[in-house]
Amino acid sequence: MILIVGGAGYIGSHVNKVLNENGYDTLILDNFSYGHHELIPGADVIEGDLGDGELLDKIFQDYPISGVMHFAAFTYVGESVTHPIRYYHNNTTNTLNLLQSMIKNKVKNFIFSSTCAVYGVPEKIPLTENHPLNPINPYGRSKLMVEEMLRDFSRAYDFNYISLRYFNAAGATPDAKTGEWHQPETHLIPLILDAALGVRDRISIFGTDYPTPDGTCIRDYIHVLDLAQAHIKAMEYLEKNNKSQIFNLGNGQGFSVREVIECCRKVTGEDIQVEEENRRLGDPPVLLGSSKKAEELLGWKVEWVELEDIIATAWKWHKKLYADYK
Ligand code: UDP
Repeated sequence: MILIVGGAGYIGSHVNKVLNENGYDTLILDNFSYGHHELIPGADVIEGDLGDGELLDKIFQDYPISGVMHFAAFTYVGESVTHPIRYYHNNTTNTLNLLQSMIKNKVKNFIFSSTCAVYGVPEKIPLTENHPLNPINPYGRSKLMVEEMLRDFSRAYDFNYISLRYFNAAGATPDAKTGEWHQPETHLIPLILDAALGVRDRISIFGTDYPTPDGTCIRDYIHVLDLAQAHIKAMEYLEKNNKSQIFNLGNGQGFSVREVIECCRKVTGEDIQVEEENRRLGDPPVLLGSSKKAEELLGWKVEWVELEDIIATAWKWHKKLYADYK
């Protein structure tokens, strides 16, 4: 049985679903600060907090947990700059708590949701796993600190991990049963889709003076179901090889903010209004990854290659989100 911490959130809920479809038993632990029950119908769930060491010990004693996947983190880059304590507390300290309990209870396989924000401003594109690590915001630093703990723990204890450095997760299941649902929403694609739906007037472009061809930030958008498949492969790898690894998970293609808006216009058929604003704090100009290592060692490959297809799934879900839940 796999324990999915933060399994009621965007990425965790999709990984839970794909794990179940592939025959894995799962148990979700979530405090529902940001998670949604609607994203995990029928799942086994414990409502609780990672800060609660006694609860964690009890879970490991009561259930046959063979591995843990950890998605419970705050992920708002801008907020991490203005409220760093929240980030170090939830993303770093609480993760330490989880790891302590795992090691105490002899649960040795751990998959960590890391981020491309650990790299900072790229010196070389595409980013590979051995690129220098110089995060430029507390969010990235809060995750990098965990990676450093993981490295030390894997050397000291009977404990193995895979750290997955996600690029920008996007999209939803094609049947639109689950998808991206943040409150508040700060991510580019759902906000553009809000503008397409008419629930907001326009999309703001944060910074038009970056050193990129059109002046706006470039990101690598990867479908959430491709991320989910990588988690299964990563768990299989740990079970088979007993060896810790770090992998980038990206699509390998970069799109500027303006290009993403244009693609959303095409998918939705709506004329989306834009407003140019100042840069947002903590944003590197370009984040674009090479996932070659994951392809080679995990035998994983992106299936959702086209941004248009990724956004089409997000659009279908987004309409349903407003019709049924918001
Ligand atoms: N962005 C933007 N307007 C918005 C939200 C985001 O221009 O309303 C930009 C943001 O500055 C970044 C990119 O879109 O360059 C992707 O941001 P997002 O928050 O989706 O993901 P992040 O890269 O921060 O994880």
